[in-house]
Amino acid sequence: MKIFLNILTNICRLVVGLTFMLSGFVKAVDPIGTQIKLQDYSVAMGVSEYLADWFTLCAAIALSAVEFILGLLLLFAIRRRITTKLLMCFISIMTLITVWIYFANPVSDCGCFGDAIKLTNGETLLKNIILTAMCVLLVMRPTQMPRMISKTNQWTVLHYAVLFILAISVYSLYYLPLFDFRPYYVGANIPKSMEIPEDAEQPQFETTFLMEKDGIQKEFSLENYPDSTWTFVDSKTKLIKQGYVPPIHDFSIALLPARSESKADNESITAEERPEDITEVILNDTSYVFLLVSPHLEKADDSMFGNIDLLYEYAITHRYTFLCLTASDTKAIDHWCDITGAEYPFANTDETTLKTMIRSNPGIIVLKNGTIVAKWSHNDIPLKELFKEGKLAKQSEALQQHRSTEERIAIILLLFVLPLTLLTVADRLWAWSKWLRKEETKQSNRLFKLLKKQQTMRKKIVAGNWKMNKNLQEGVALAKELTEVVKNPNCEVIIGTPFIHLASVAETIKGSCIKLSAENCADKASGAYTGEVSAEMVKSTGAEYVILGHSERREYYNETPEILKEKVQLALANGLKVIFCIGESKEEREANKQNEVVKAELAGSVFHLTAEEWKNIVIAYEPIWAIGTGLTATAEQAEEIHAYIRSCVADVYGKEVADDTTILYGGSCKASNAPELFAKPDIDGGLIGGASLKAADFKGIIDAWN
Ligand code: PEP
Repeated sequence: MKIFLNILTNICRLVVGLTFMLSGFVKAVDPIGTQIKLQDYSVAMGVSEYLADWFTLCAAIALSAVEFILGLLLLFAIRRRITTKLLMCFISIMTLITVWIYFANPVSDCGCFGDAIKLTNGETLLKNIILTAMCVLLVMRPTQMPRMISKTNQWTVLHYAVLFILAISVYSLYYLPLFDFRPYYVGANIPKSMEIPEDAEQPQFETTFLMEKDGIQKEFSLENYPDSTWTFVDSKTKLIKQGYVPPIHDFSIALLPARSESKADNESITAEERPEDITEVILNDTSYVFLLVSPHLEKADDSMFGNIDLLYEYAITHRYTFLCLTASDTKAIDHWCDITGAEYPFANTDETTLKTMIRSNPGIIVLKNGTIVAKWSHNDIPLKELFKEGKLAKQSEALQQHRSTEERIAIILLLFVLPLTLLTVADRLWAWSKWLRKEETKQSNRLFKLLKKQQTMRKKIVAGNWKMNKNLQEGVALAKELTEVVKNPNCEVIIGTPFIHLASVAETIKGSCIKLSAENCADKASGAYTGEVSAEMVKSTGAEYVILGHSERREYYNETPEILKEKVQLALANGLKVIFCIGESKEEREANKQNEVVKAELAGSVFHLTAEEWKNIVIAYEPIWAIGTGLTATAEQAEEIHAYIRSCVADVYGKEVADDTTILYGGSCKASNAPELFAKPDIDGGLIGGASLKAADFKGIIDAWN
């Protein structure tokens, strides 16, 4: 389920990211088109009069940039939390707008994808509902989107993308849209785009008739038209289904009378002076036709009028038709002529058609046989190409669009997609190599520690302390089980049993890797000490070790440092090795006196030994608060005090001896915490109480050394 959700989140990320980028990009390549759409919306909302042209244009550019950047941030998973929240806000507002346009129908096309993809209002609503649902998932699981770029490089991506999308808008504004998605693209044949195929769907109308009889009015349709006793009052015809509409359906050119012949508003116009429909003539012209297109001459940029006049001269010289198409009135035309010295003829064309034809005011369209062969912004008239030497030979080339759509796509790929792809690949490789280096260092550190630990001479030991548990038969059975399960351990294994088990267990473990320990011995060598067991007796059973100084013996049997000193001396004298226990109580730990306590215990009972004798001493640090309580010192706490104990040994016997001294940890040590404890450099194994009473538990701890 988790994997499924992760995959789904990333599919949503891809779909939402790419949709936003596409939507932003197609708007950015046609800022004027986006501005017109925003103006349509502002008219529908009744706020158009408050919004200046410059404001709607800036809003159009900002809108496209925001969409593109949000999409890109999502794709690259940059600032994932904030990005998904912003996307959620954006899509929520857009969805509310599409709900409104779906029900109120103020605009026929939402303009989400500019002129590139036209959606009906219903399709737009559905699209936005799906995108909203996807954004909800993205907001809920932002961190499930893996980053495509490291944090250090994400700002480069962001800044580059902002620059790129703004540059696209500025370029498309200064020249013409980088990609032309309107029906008047270069290469379009206008007459062909105006054709309605014979089998095309026809529009459907419904007519209703309002009839009256005996003072009662009623509506009828053609199907139930009443008899002649009813009198006709009114009829209504409604379009119920839009038929096929060709891509170009409102193209016409009405040539205006020459300027000198134009009349003042109050003068009457004769039939010869009326505008003449020359659409067919222009579309059928087999030579080049230059159309200077300006929906509003009063708003047209007149800074390049010199170039336009030169182009007109060029056209006249070559006997090409040159015509200015505008929706402006005579007054505006006259004004234009006055300020630019224009001598070319003017013709009227529908304003929306002119705005659709070219996104430059004024712009130039070159036609041949009704086909658009070139479109130029007034900023981009190729005069150099038209007027250079040998112009006649190359004129048809100069009059063609100099960059194909394929070339433009290649430029976008080269300028945007390729650098970002290269940056991403380099970034990922860099991140990967960094990760590899880190892993290698970790690995070698681990190896180094392990090697260091293995290089030290001291013994690793796991010793059991059965305490006063198990009768003889149970003890022998446990010892037997241990001989069966403990094979080739990576440490020395010792079991500490009650006195009466020693001889039998020694017999049981003979030939195995397990060694035997007593849990105590007398502080006297021999004699009238009823109930006591001497070190010599322990040794005679086959035991090699004796546990001395355990906190339970110190507490319940009042074993003082002096008594323990005696016991240690006798044990060593009888060839036994000593596991000497030290450790602080809870109160002492709380008072932060643990170091003091362990040092005093060592000094009181074992620090008098010679270095030679010390070789047979194993220290067991057992915090009393952790023994049999389930509480364990953390590995860090234990390591800290083990290192301190070793330093105390070093102070007395020197570093070399200290490095060879085995220091065990004891106190609720289990198979689950042993690996972490034993991994510490100064912990050389454990003295195990409760967990040594079951073979499986004890083996689990021994296995921690594996
Ligand atoms: C012990 O008594 O030595 C001991 C460490 O006991 P436990 O492991 O049960 O805490």
